Amino acid sequence: MFNAIEIEKIRSEFPILSALSGKRPLVYLDNAATAQKPQCVIDAVSRFYSGGNANIHRGLYRLSAEATAAFERARESVARFINAREPRECIFTRGATEAINLVAASWGMKYLREGDEILLTQMEHHADIVPWQLVAERTGAKIVAAPILPNGELDVPAWKNLLTERTRFVGISAMSNALGVVNPVKELVAAAHAVGALALVDGAQSAAHGITDVREIDCDFFVFSGHKVFGPTGIGVLYGRAEILNAMPPYQGGGDMIEKVDFSGTTFREIPERFEAGTPNICGAVALGVALDYFSPLRLAAAEHEAALLRYATEKLTAVPGLKIFGDTPNKASVISFQIEGIHPSDIGTMLDTYGIAVRVGHHCAMPLMKALGVTGTVRASFAFYNTFAEVDAFVDALLRIQKMF
Ligand code: PMP
Repeated sequence: MFNAIEIEKIRSEFPILSALSGKRPLVYLDNAATAQKPQCVIDAVSRFYSGGNANIHRGLYRLSAEATAAFERARESVARFINAREPRECIFTRGATEAINLVAASWGMKYLREGDEILLTQMEHHADIVPWQLVAERTGAKIVAAPILPNGELDVPAWKNLLTERTRFVGISAMSNALGVVNPVKELVAAAHAVGALALVDGAQSAAHGITDVREIDCDFFVFSGHKVFGPTGIGVLYGRAEILNAMPPYQGGGDMIEKVDFSGTTFREIPERFEAGTPNICGAVALGVALDYFSPLRLAAAEHEAALLRYATEKLTAVPGLKIFGDTPNKASVISFQIEGIHPSDIGTMLDTYGIAVRVGHHCAMPLMKALGVTGTVRASFAFYNTFAEVDAFVDALLRIQKMF
């Protein structure tokens, strides 16, 4: 938990939080879509391009060697952040989406056969559904979607019933981006392993809320995006067990990922380079490393602060007449998804914007979840550790004023 002075100090490190939205102070409650960046991350980007820019891995000169060292140091930061056994198990990608596509295209195309099943959940983000549909179409594997309960939680017994000897792969969101519901990933991964399936955990949301420990979860793959953990866009991570990754074929071909290229045949490097064809987002990786090193020591206090904000906001919203919260369970973090009777979510989003309040409205890239809940969309407010109780007050006051207009 942070006190008022600590929160002010944290907020002062994020320049955008003192910006105006029109004439009003910005109240940024769309952290599940992307988080804001602290000055140290902004400075890291600027510093890299002002004094550190060179291509990595192939240069013999000092600047290239330094850029390579900075890139690999960032990989070490990632490994520390998720407690990977070794940095080489952390592959830089464009984000969580590309990381899942990599696993689906590489592992899926190599190992899936007709009749095999991929077990997903109804609460997956489209990024953990569509890549599997693409690979299912090509391999004849079948996608099975485990249901959710009316309160938005995964129906764990139903999920376990759908897990059979045909299940080769499971994809589980650690935390729903649309509802904030948190899944018991460790328990689900263990059950998947018991039937011989591999498990991918989508940590795009969970990585910014609490501690991630891939060894403790014991997952085979874990993915997250840099921009949701206070780093830049265009950079993310695929964690995978070394022996599994090294047995997978390359996802993309090109420079840096090969051992030897010949028209009679090409051989590939081991991880991480095997999956990092071409010039990567070097600056993005370096700045992500800075973001993770900044955020790591704050994680526990951040999660406590967010839990307090969530409790406070939930209590206040529950008192708003006609307001219904989706994902009405204590097993959740940092997100409140809701509708207000008689007002379209888009109208709420547009009106909140006139108060300087940024929330997201719509299906949140989780159409199957919306269908299961019987809605087409919700209003979603999502908190980060720099949000304040005063911002929650401003948000709820604005909602009450909007409600009076309808
Ligand atoms: N999974 C979840 C749970 C997400 O919230 C998101 C981003 N909204 C993604 C995957 C995809 O992340 P990105 O768009 O950064 O690749």
